[in-house]
Amino acid sequence: MSAKKDCSPATGLIHHPYRPPEGFASPAVPVCKASTVFFPSVAALRSQHWLDKQAYTYGLHGTPTTFTLEERLATLEGAKHVLLAPSGLSALTNVNMALLSSGDAVLLPDNVYNPSKEFARHELARWGISHKVYDAMQPESLLQALGPDVKLVWLEAPGSVTMEFPDLPALVRTVREAAPQAVIALDNTWGAGLAFDAFELGVDLTIHALTKYPSGGGDLLMGSIACRDQALYQRLAMTHSRLGLGVGANDAEAVLRALPTLPLRYASQDASARRIAEWAAGQRPLIRRVLHPALPGSPGHEHWASVCRAAAGLMTLEFDPAVEPARVDAFIEGLALFRIGWSWGGPVSLAVPYQASTRLRQLGSPYAGTLVRLSIGLEGTDDLIADLALGLQRLQAA
Ligand SMILES: *Cc1c(COP(=O)(O)O)cnc(C)c1O
Repeated sequence: MSAKKDCSPATGLIHHPYRPPEGFASPAVPVCKASTVFFPSVAALRSQHWLDKQAYTYGLHGTPTTFTLEERLATLEGAKHVLLAPSGLSALTNVNMALLSSGDAVLLPDNVYNPSKEFARHELARWGISHKVYDAMQPESLLQALGPDVKLVWLEAPGSVTMEFPDLPALVRTVREAAPQAVIALDNTWGAGLAFDAFELGVDLTIHALTKYPSGGGDLLMGSIACRDQALYQRLAMTHSRLGLGVGANDAEAVLRALPTLPLRYASQDASARRIAEWAAGQRPLIRRVLHPALPGSPGHEHWASVCRAAAGLMTLEFDPAVEPARVDAFIEGLALFRIGWSWGGPVSLAVPYQASTRLRQLGSPYAGTLVRLSIGLEGTDDLIADLALGLQRLQAA
């Protein structure tokens, strides 16, 4: 069918009558792009159905692509409702802003993803919202921090960089008993919905950096918030809408494309990381300790074993305190396959140094040596071990 003949080509190109045949089907979820969404009538425009996802109103409130991604993520974790955000960090801040008001307090584990602390310290504080940190490995420490002003408690398992796996059931129980008014939020990026069942452990909501395993490419930023409770979803969704947290259709489609391989990639990176962790644990004295929750002796290993069936592809090597930080830097720079860079969950293995004692802890650090966080990618495990082994030989010779 050709364009209308009774209007200019400019109009004809925009208001073209051609409609492709119905019934197209392929493995791909279509990339539906929109700011504007057309309504069939003024009455339809006036009825605001975006919250229950029964209609399309504006790109920000969802398209077939983002609704589909939300539903698949809900299935992954056994949640009912999912919201997408432009990054994992914006998912975190959305939760804080939806659930906290002036005069409230939020609790964070001392080993939390550090930008979460920075948000509390620099943004929440300006709005009269206080925060306290607790030692996630001591439910007593959480109990002491709880009070009537605490409206939100964050959990993370394992802890960022230092990988301690907390007793999640005990932490959840402690909050429920001592602060029933508080919402329990878990940063479940590490577990990715695969390592353990967060909602069965009793948390109210989870957030994910889809940036990591779900996208799997190291090439985009996205976050999600998941919950089961309808009223909680509405609170989160209204703030999400007022903050204007939209995601791009191409990025949503890229995550949809990666999701079918998520369990395979996660299992592969997990298996590879466990072999590397066991190998690294035998590299004393240069490597003093390997922090990886599936490794016996790693902090919280027994808690990991009691709730988890998998372990992601992350570990942290604590070097002997006698090895100067500059030599550790040289070790990292000498690696051929491990690249230097933030984030994790992509195909390329990554290494990043941390000075544990100075940066990571408010409640005191048990780590003395330089820490090197490894994100294991999808390369051959033997090649990665050979790369690390050569690096340690160079370090010893230096
Ligand atoms: C990466 C990460 C985030 C933040 O995700 P971005 O998409 O980088 O903003 C939050 N929490 C954890 C545990 C992370 O690893």
